[in-house]
Amino acid sequence: MTGTERRYEVVVIGNGSAGDNIARTLGRQGRKVALVEMAHLGGECLNDGCVPSKALIEVAREARWRPVSWTEALARVQAVQLLVRGNDPGGGLDRDGVDLYWGEARFAAPGRVVVGETVLLAPDVVVATGTAPGLPPVPGLAEAKPLTNRTVFRLPQLPRRLGVVGGGPIGLELGQALHRLGAEVTLFEALDRVAATEEPEVSLELQRLFEAEGIRVVTSARLERVERRADGTVAVSTPDGRFEVDDLLVAAGRVPVIPPGLADLGLERDRRGFVVIEPCGRTSVPGTWAAGDVTGKFQFTHYAAYQAHHIAKHIAEGVCEPIPDAVVPWAIFTDPEVGHAGMTEGQARERGLEVRTGMLAARELDWFRTTGQVEGFAKVVADAETGVLLGAHFLCARASTLAGEACLAIQHGLTARQVASTIHPYPTAGELFRWACARAVSGRG
Ligand SMILES: Cc1cc2nc3c(=O)[nH]c(=O)nc-3n(C[C@H](O)[C@H](O)[C@H](O)COP(=O)(O)OP(=O)(O)OC[C@H]3O[C@@H](n4cnc5c(N)ncnc54)[C@H](O)[C@@H]3O)c2cc1C
Repeated sequence: MTGTERRYEVVVIGNGSAGDNIARTLGRQGRKVALVEMAHLGGECLNDGCVPSKALIEVAREARWRPVSWTEALARVQAVQLLVRGNDPGGGLDRDGVDLYWGEARFAAPGRVVVGETVLLAPDVVVATGTAPGLPPVPGLAEAKPLTNRTVFRLPQLPRRLGVVGGGPIGLELGQALHRLGAEVTLFEALDRVAATEEPEVSLELQRLFEAEGIRVVTSARLERVERRADGTVAVSTPDGRFEVDDLLVAAGRVPVIPPGLADLGLERDRRGFVVIEPCGRTSVPGTWAAGDVTGKFQFTHYAAYQAHHIAKHIAEGVCEPIPDAVVPWAIFTDPEVGHAGMTEGQARERGLEVRTGMLAARELDWFRTTGQVEGFAKVVADAETGVLLGAHFLCARASTLAGEACLAIQHGLTARQVASTIHPYPTAGELFRWACARAVSGRG
């Protein structure tokens, strides 16, 4: 291999949440770090994921009481991205002691990464290359060139009739926001309920609320064929009928992005293609670590950062200790939101645990009444014998924040009684967690 050789202590590939965290942490400690990025700083979250989708959701909320054009909505999305990105094209990486290389990184050998004409050599290399949108194997779907999260935030016009494939977080969030901005949305979910990782009560109520808003939800949808016609419209065939839309947005799973050359070095991958890591974060390729979505664990920015924090520590200290288990909460930013911490009732029972649950409707508490956001409920799951909290699930306004509080309680082994006896300010959404725990204690379910 010809080209300029540069020696580093660590090379990080990818500047999403995982790569950025590891590179800056080690750079600030005075390590000699190179980071390679081929598209944009900030990864999927800032450019095509969390940030634009949350900005779109906020502006779509306003569209419920005032007209918001698609042009205005996109301008807001871009303004928010600019704010988060800042105006340093290098993202301030140099101030954190990180050398940035633009281009696609490929592996020539373990510890030998090629970017254009440059060869980067390091004893530790981190693969933090994330994922790309996946397309389900439906005949005609790829040829129909559907929208994905990589294209939807740049659409010149909002389609009048939009089909959304996938009733997980991305499909639900974008489907509802685009509906509120004026698209007639039909959402196709292959399973028998949307938000299938959630409590069944959450899925069913969320679907009811979507339908009440005018979103058509098709569950157990088996897409047989998709066809983009000459006039640009799209026909979606299912055993239950044919749907006509002007465009399709696919949000039905993610595929890992593996740097070229790495697969040839004996990289172990799981059956979905994600990189298999040891509990400490090392891959099967010597000196090569992997962090973030490419490892196929919890695909969230906050989890990528958690993994990254520990992997940076392992590299700095030259150790391979397991990344500690932690309760990983998440949210679906629909309106109302979904917040998830710990086990569902079904998961707890599958583990052979006896449980007691507590449920409380949002409309019973004054914060929800005073803000007019009365939809939804909380459900907590506790060990029947010890009262230790196992899970908490929210469908309500501020559910994302409630999931954080619930995670704190679950991670640190609090009982439902301890939460129920903790004073919360009145009137706040947080009281929903407290009083749902009180229900679990009293056995009023
Ligand atoms: C629409 C949408 C909404 C989302 N909303 C949320 C949310 O609200 N909350 C949340 O927690 N998570 C959300 N996520 C998930 C979140 O975006 C990811 O979990 C997060 O981006 C993972 O970070 P990462 O560092 O693993 O990878 P990524 O962010 O994917 O970054 C990987 C980087 O590697 C670069 N790269 C890839 N291959 C190479 C190569 N060979 N050479 C050089 N560079 C390379 C890519 O260009 C990219 O910049 C959302 C995702 C989507 C799609």
